[in-house]
Amino acid sequence: MAATIAPRSVPFFNYPWLFKSQEKEIMETLREVMSRGAYIMQRDVEEFENNIREFLNVKFAYGVADGTEAIIMGLLAAGIKPGDEVIVASHTMVATASAVHWVNAKPVLVECGKDHMIDPASIEASITKKTRGILPTQLNGRTADMDAIKKIADKHNLIIVEDAAQALGSKFKGKNAGTFGKAGTFSLFPAKVLGCFGDGGIVVTNDADVAKSLERLRDHGRAVGEREITGWGFNSRLDNIQAAILNLKFKTYPAAIERRRKIATMYQQLLGDLKELQLPPAPGTDERHFDIFQNYELEAERRDELRKHLEEHGVKTLIQWDGKAVHQWKNLGFTEKLPKTDEVFKRCVMIPLNLALEDQDIEYVAQTVRKFYKG
Ligand SMILES: *Cc1c(COP(=O)(O)O)cnc(C)c1O
Repeated sequence: MAATIAPRSVPFFNYPWLFKSQEKEIMETLREVMSRGAYIMQRDVEEFENNIREFLNVKFAYGVADGTEAIIMGLLAAGIKPGDEVIVASHTMVATASAVHWVNAKPVLVECGKDHMIDPASIEASITKKTRGILPTQLNGRTADMDAIKKIADKHNLIIVEDAAQALGSKFKGKNAGTFGKAGTFSLFPAKVLGCFGDGGIVVTNDADVAKSLERLRDHGRAVGEREITGWGFNSRLDNIQAAILNLKFKTYPAAIERRRKIATMYQQLLGDLKELQLPPAPGTDERHFDIFQNYELEAERRDELRKHLEEHGVKTLIQWDGKAVHQWKNLGFTEKLPKTDEVFKRCVMIPLNLALEDQDIEYVAQTVRKFYKG
């Protein structure tokens, strides 16, 4: 039996720590980049895109304004057209569905499975004559069963675009999240595993035509080296200052992933025997998956009471997406009935998992959860 840990406060996420933990290097980076006057589409963005290409083993990568615009441009470049239906898991950020909306296509919401990833059977059941795409969310740092999804896409001639906002470095059978379909997108929001100090995003592809479209879409319809406006575009460029900071953070990214997996393993060891909980699959339990644990989302009996107990003992928790799956936001007008997802949203909760935490914080969280169920 491990020693009891004295009460402490464990925030869900520690934003000031992001700066404090690397203050000196960050300030040096800012000074260097700003002294160069390098703000928009400069060499730091290029270097960042190279880093991402190499890391994901993908041919093209573009830094863009944020993870939501990354999806919008990914869908447009991949060929989703007005009136098309695009299948999205309801257990995702509203941004996934709104991206589909803003390309004038229709998001069709489907169920998630036991591991909270989009459910292939539910995808298949939702296909109509208008279905044109599947937009799986690589949720919580895990990659969906892309064999099953690709099989459905091939059978029905559908385009896959991945919302891998939470999954930079996550793999399925050795292949990176974001590289399975026509395009894949990532978010660099501060709380993501690779976050900047503001908004940022990435779109990747292996398809040269999609790449050319993305290049144009993110910069007013102009591709690099083109003097002609080739079509309508956005201003959706990743800030060069953010790219410079991301390059700095990228040096320790593999270590960051390893630490997250270590914390997930600790939670498994400390909580795995509690029958009241359903923990996410631990690292190494299914060799097809390499998860990066953007979040540690579990299901818990008497969830709301558990949260209250944890809060009273200094541990902050969160229910993803402000507590609702996309189809549950009544003002958006969805009519899908998704009982499995409804059930998950009565039980799901995220406990702290981030790089600011020490082992003792993890042990204290686990101890406090155990005390709730075991007294
Ligand atoms: C964070 C997130 C987004 C949106 O990313 P932004 O950079 O905030 O626009 C989209 N989808 C998922 C699954 C996310 O977690």
